[in-house]
Parts: sequence; C-alpha cells; structure tokens
Amino acid sequence: MATIVLKGLRKTYGKVTALDGVDLELRDGEFFCLLGPSGAGKTTTLKAVAGLEEPDEGRVEIGGVDMDGVEPYDRRVAMCFESYALYPHYSAYDNMASPLRSPRYKVPADEAKRRVGRIAELLGISHLLDRNVGELSNGQRQRVALGRVLVRPADAFLLDEPLSHLDAKLRQSMRAELKTIGAVERTTTLYVTHDYVEALGLGDRIGVLREGRIVQVGTREEIWDRPADTFVAQSFGKPRVNLVEGAAAEGGRFRSPDGEVDIPLPGGVEIRPGRDLVLGVRPRDVALVRDGRPADGTVELRGRVYVTEILGRQSEVTVSVGESRVSLVVPREQAAGLGREDPVRLAVPTARLLLFDPADGGRRIAP
Ligand code: ADP
Ligand code: MG
Repeated sequence: MATIVLKGLRKTYGKVTALDGVDLELRDGEFFCLLGPSGAGKTTTLKAVAGLEEPDEGRVEIGGVDMDGVEPYDRRVAMCFESYALYPHYSAYDNMASPLRSPRYKVPADEAKRRVGRIAELLGISHLLDRNVGELSNGQRQRVALGRVLVRPADAFLLDEPLSHLDAKLRQSMRAELKTIGAVERTTTLYVTHDYVEALGLGDRIGVLREGRIVQVGTREEIWDRPADTFVAQSFGKPRVNLVEGAAAEGGRFRSPDGEVDIPLPGGVEIRPGRDLVLGVRPRDVALVRDGRPADGTVELRGRVYVTEILGRQSEVTVSVGESRVSLVVPREQAAGLGREDPVRLAVPTARLLLFDPADGGRRIAP
C-alpha cells in the first residue's frame, strides 16, 4: 500500500503537450479513477508513475519517496497496459504465474498457485487456466493480462482501460469484481478509463483529465452534483446534460436570447443583468407535466417536441423551447403518443439546476 503524489507533471512529445502540469494525490489503499477522452494524457500519466516515461518537469512520489531516478522495477507498482502482451504458446496459468517465477517477485510454487487461483476466480477465468492463451478470445485474454498484473505483490496497481475489450455484459460484472479485488487487496489503484459509467461505478474518487490537466477531483457525488465546469458536466451522463445559453435578467432571472426559457436563477446567486450564462440540467431530472400544475420545487417550460428516441424502457424526448433545446428521459409510455411539433410542458427542478460562466471556460458558478 502506498500514497501516490504527482506534482506539476509536464510531458511533451515534440510539439504535442501530453501533460500540462498534472497534480494528483492518491490516498493509501484508494481506488482512484482517472477519466478523460482519448488523447487527454491518461496513459502518459500512468507511464510517468510507473517510470516508463520520464516527465520533463514535476515529480512523482510513491509512499512518500521521490521516484526521480528510481527504475520501474524498483517502484513496486504493477501496470496493466491497454495493449496486453501475453506469451501466446503458454497456458493462461503460466502467463499469470510468470511474474511470480521471476527472481524479483519469486514466491514458492504453492503460494503462486494459491494467488493465481484466487485472482482467476475473481476474474471468472478459473476454467481457462489450462488453455493456451492463443486459443482465447480477446476478452478472455484481457482478463488473463489483468490477472497477471493483479497476482503480483505491489504497493499500487496502475490499470490502463483494462476492460476495454470486454463486451458490455462482461464489463458490468467485471466492474463489480474489480472493486472486490481492490477491497480484498486494499492496494492503492490508479484506474484509467474514458467510460464515465466505469468511473462512477468503481472510483472511491474520480479525477477528470482534459488536455493534460486535471480539471476536477472529487467523489462521484461531488463530480455529478457539482461539476467544476461544462466539460466535466458533459463528461458524465447519457444523454448528456442540457446546456442552455442565455444571460442574467432583471429580478434574478435566467433568460434565453428569445425569452422562451425564463426562470429564476438557481441557488439564489446574484448576477449582474446582461451577463452571459449557461444553464445546465440533466435529462433525467426533467419531467413532463401531464395536467395541472408542475410539482413543487419545479419551474415550467413550454415547448414543442423536436424528436423522440427509444432507450430501452425509457424514451429520450428532445423539446424545442423557442430556439433552445432541452432533452429529457421519461418512461416509454409517457412518450408513446408524442409526435413532432406536439406542445409539451416540462417541469425543471430548481434544486438540480447548474449555472456556468461561458466567459470563464464554462466554470460552474452555482450552486
Ligand atoms: P490517452 O491515454 O488519454 O488517450 P495519451 O497519454 O496516450 O492519451 O496521449 C496524450 C497525448 O500525447 C496524445 O496527443 C498523444 O498523441 C500524445 N502521445 C502519447 N505518447 C506519444 C509518443 N510516444 N509520441 C508522440 N506523441 C505521443
Ligand atoms: Mg491511453
């Protein structure tokens, strides 16, 4: 177990800035998810921790020790790459046990067998241990590769999108199992993904990386309820958060340019009238008003159906409110009779509104 601290990490490849001052602190035993789109610098961050890439600036500390000049093998971290390299002619068991036979991590054969057996069980590959990995599917191979990392004694695991080759169903069950492994081992884990569902499902805490910078670190609740900016808000949730452009108006209101969205500013913030704003609300927080008044704590918007889409048992309804668009997710029955241009009333809960400042990179200003 170990803390991992990154301070001001910078890394460039020619003209490309991969890391632009990454600061991060992982607590001892924590399962930390680093989320970011492709190219954000996730793999480069992991490589810097593992010692496979030397940062141009900044430092890495593991367990309070500065890793400058410490060889990868001496860092006591186990890393699982996106592209896994297994020995194709060896069995899954031999692949997984191979680190435990190397002089560095050598353990007695029965201890190796116990470790491999337990991890294989957690990964659901016990029945594959005798098979050559050349005969396995991509998803099975990925689990063997992950297993080979997890059997190693290590102070920290560095996992680079380890579930990316699995189908959706397997990913879901593996997510649960990975968390169990983390809990059993209590090993500090830095887990990289571009999938927000994975981050929300796994992370004790989540860090969001954008263009080589950490834009927010927080618990899943903090990230979901209080996204630092529009980028973070848009990175979590499907359908994506609604962002409505407008400006502050007299009387503490938010108004879209055509005045069709006109509602009290959330969180009682005071903002100079005329200042540009972006209002955010998540599709699953918006409801259709069938008849009567909208529920307490909500404000009503009137619009027309733009398009409806089926998402399994639910439907996504996109509504034009003047020139603005607002999507909502409702049970399918509610959307069944709705066609394009039908008038609808929406209930938007004021407590769920987010307010962002477009003049400041979309930073959240309320709540
Ligand atoms: P991620 O893992 O988040 O997708 P990476 O850390 O792999 O992102 O890459 C960050 C940026 O650095 C990207 O623009 C990528 O093209 C660039 N990059 C990464 N590794 C190299 C390399 N060895 N040579 C040149 N550019 C690289
Ligand atoms: Mg990567």
